[in-house]
Amino acid sequence: MKNSVHELTYLKEKIESLKEEGVYRELPVFDGPNEAEINLNGQRVINLSSNNYLGFANHPRLKQAAIAAVEKYGVGAGAVRTIVGNMDIHEELETVLATFKREEAVMVFQSGFNCNAGAIQAIVEKGDLIVSDELNHASIIDGVRLSRADKAVFKHSDMADLDRVLKEKRGDYNNVLIITDGVFSMDGDLARLPEIVALAEAYDCLTYVDDAHGSGVLGENGRGTVDHFNLHGKVDFTIGTLSKALGVMGGYVAGSKTMKQWLSHRGRPLLFSTALPPAVVGALIEGLKMMMETSEFTERLWDNARYLKAGLKDLGYDIGHSETPITPVMIGDEARTMAFSKALMARGVFGSAIVFPTVPKGAGRIRLMVSAAHTREQLDRALEAFKALK
Ligand SMILES: *Cc1c(COP(=O)(O)O)cnc(C)c1O
Repeated sequence: MKNSVHELTYLKEKIESLKEEGVYRELPVFDGPNEAEINLNGQRVINLSSNNYLGFANHPRLKQAAIAAVEKYGVGAGAVRTIVGNMDIHEELETVLATFKREEAVMVFQSGFNCNAGAIQAIVEKGDLIVSDELNHASIIDGVRLSRADKAVFKHSDMADLDRVLKEKRGDYNNVLIITDGVFSMDGDLARLPEIVALAEAYDCLTYVDDAHGSGVLGENGRGTVDHFNLHGKVDFTIGTLSKALGVMGGYVAGSKTMKQWLSHRGRPLLFSTALPPAVVGALIEGLKMMMETSEFTERLWDNARYLKAGLKDLGYDIGHSETPITPVMIGDEARTMAFSKALMARGVFGSAIVFPTVPKGAGRIRLMVSAAHTREQLDRALEAFKALK
């Protein structure tokens, strides 16, 4: 069976070209909890690349709550939520989340990714139009592809371009859904939500904000971008993830009771994929309680972010135009960016290289994600490494 299709020669060729471009990589492996310092590929490094913003991924209170949930509910939910996978703790999680988000109702999914894959196709149909920011997250792009609505893209955060698209097309469709990230994950900039909401009102459109990087970061105690801009009640669908700041796993849509009733019938991941396991749900409820009790975690996150950014600027690095703790260190071409990340690693700092196709060609960067769990001493050591590489 020489040259059989099963040898996947066509994929081997593509892998070879990744290697030629200098962008081929193995998955990094670490051997303990996700913390500020980890053993990555056998080396002790300061971890500046996780989305574990508040340090909850290994927090004792969340771990205890997860263990308690396992003791009471076991390890698996046993079915999709619509059959017999919906435990009282799933309901409790949604109630707590709705209170936290200051919205009428919340529908929880198994991840932020599958929330976008399921929710978008459920709320628009043929005869509708989706208008999407060109830098929206991959899971939004996939979610949009799965829907039967027409699609239009506006230039990143360009309100004149959004206005142009709406002026041209609004009249041709039933519902128009404007979708944007709340915080753009590669640059750390915020969506211009007040203006987007105003345009949505002017053109009678629905709004959908994916706040994966705003949840736990912006707004009162990390309530998110909608809270930051005080736009409660004006965004129809607010998506969040439970996998970033909350440190565990899951995604959700926050909004109206009607949204929740509809998604419980047409949100495909809810109907066709097993409910979140009890340990995850237990840990999440505890994490949310902690966020409501104190602003200590978000404050420490922002203090650390300001400290790291000021240090990098002093060293002469271009750190882009982030408005959040996400800190891109702009390097340039793909191979140089990969090499810079390796050099950082050799100095005990893990800052992952983000290159094409995740960002445009030539816009390679080291994306630093600081957390509430980093100490000043760790940030100083990271800055020493950047100093040596300047
Ligand atoms: C990370 C991310 C997601 C995916 O969330 P998961 O819970 O990790 O699946 C969705 N949207 C945006 C904007 C993200 O940054």
